[in-house]
Amino acid sequence: MVEKPEHANAKLNAFPVFLRVEGRVVVVVGDGDEALAKARLLGQSAATIRIVSVKPEADLARWVRDNDAELVPAEWSTEHLANAVLVFAATGDEARDAAIVSDARRAGVAANAVDRPALCDFFTPALVNRAPVAVAIGTEGAGPVLAQMIRARIDTMLSPSLGPLAALAAAWRDAAERVLPRGAARRAFWKAFFSGAPARAVEAGDAAGAERAVSALLEAGGKAGGHVALVGAGPGSEDLITLRAHRLLMEADVIVHDALVPDAVIALGRRDAERISAGKRKGCHSKTQKEINDLLVELGRAGKRVVRLKSGDPLVFGRAGEEMAALRAAGISYEIVPGVTAAFAAAADFELPLTLRGVSSSMVFTTGHDLKGKTLPDWAQLAIDGATVAVYMGRSNAADVAGRLADAGLSPDTAVAVVENASLGHKRLFHGTLADLPLLQDRNDLIGPVMTIIGDAVAGANFDKSQPLAARIGADVVI
Ligand code: SAH
Repeated sequence: MVEKPEHANAKLNAFPVFLRVEGRVVVVVGDGDEALAKARLLGQSAATIRIVSVKPEADLARWVRDNDAELVPAEWSTEHLANAVLVFAATGDEARDAAIVSDARRAGVAANAVDRPALCDFFTPALVNRAPVAVAIGTEGAGPVLAQMIRARIDTMLSPSLGPLAALAAAWRDAAERVLPRGAARRAFWKAFFSGAPARAVEAGDAAGAERAVSALLEAGGKAGGHVALVGAGPGSEDLITLRAHRLLMEADVIVHDALVPDAVIALGRRDAERISAGKRKGCHSKTQKEINDLLVELGRAGKRVVRLKSGDPLVFGRAGEEMAALRAAGISYEIVPGVTAAFAAAADFELPLTLRGVSSSMVFTTGHDLKGKTLPDWAQLAIDGATVAVYMGRSNAADVAGRLADAGLSPDTAVAVVENASLGHKRLFHGTLADLPLLQDRNDLIGPVMTIIGDAVAGANFDKSQPLAARIGADVVI
């Protein structure tokens, strides 16, 4: 028989509440770091903070000055409890802390002795503060480190502008209750308020726009318009997406992703979001660009919150221009969330400075695919003048790229770095010279995305982890 774990449905020994402290006093007794830590935590509230300390240490004294706290330069006495709701004993001395706690109890004021759980009437939580919204995490003293870890995770999930958004909601609550009937319509309104146009306007710091968005939402009876976010997924590793991208993924109704975006990143999305692959790996176009544009417009019209997830940065070789044009033409609201582009991930893997003092002070993002015709691409001259060149989609035409650069006069000895699957666990790094670059084209074993970086700055990279491009005689190399 499988026994229930002991902690299943365990009861809390400490019950969380939010205590009104505005206009009241919270007393902290102590001179040093523990007192300062509590003062800082309490400083996030509107409480009047009274520090009882005969000899405050320098940092505590400074904090008191900077935060307009009340300093009582006296030994502890019950008089200091006047108008207090809470007391923190942080003297560092057990007997003194115990005396303060018992004085407080006699006066009917709840007490906490720092780092002495047995003496505490209450515990302080780890706090995620988006005033007026607060998330308090408690472990009943079992693990402050655990509480901090949970705090950090929750912090990343909540938009920094959640506080002002909640304050805006409070201001509109009466109007919403007047205009919208209780039930589904009102719920839809608030959902759209907190995740739709009003939230986006507050996030952008556009207070007037937020007011307009709320009015429009009320007029529409709480029915939200669709919205498409063109989001950079980063180079592949799921912890290289931005916090904003992560938040949008968790709020999305639909995720439309490219083939290059790994499953692990797509999995960060809301569990019941619909996922649509737009394909587009070289050689297997599952949807044309026109079909993708139409799909985004259609989803936007249907009122969906869409995340259009693109590898790297959406504005770098991502055909975002066409998608934005289609959305603009259809009058659908959209936004762009930048991402870490492949060139940056590849440079990081190689420990390669993209700009190098005295060597390279400009950088070119290019592709091996626009070499049609006989004219030299204008970036070749930049390369000759010392720019670092990042070539996207440059494997199957590596010989062409190398040939053009050599013809333009770039030295065949110019350093070249190649990274397959940058940022991912199975990445592979290669180094060589411009003269070696054509070999890349025959490397049929490179099946992941490949980034090529060319220029004198590449010579500053770390070649410890890379293989020479020219060494093609290996069992695992299929030519
Ligand atoms: N918007 C993307 C680029 C899309 S074009 C960005 O900003 O990164 C696709 C090309 O990007 C691939 O052919 C390859 O050259 C490059 N690329 C994307 N992810 C990569 C990765 N993890 N490692 C190496 N190159 C990558």
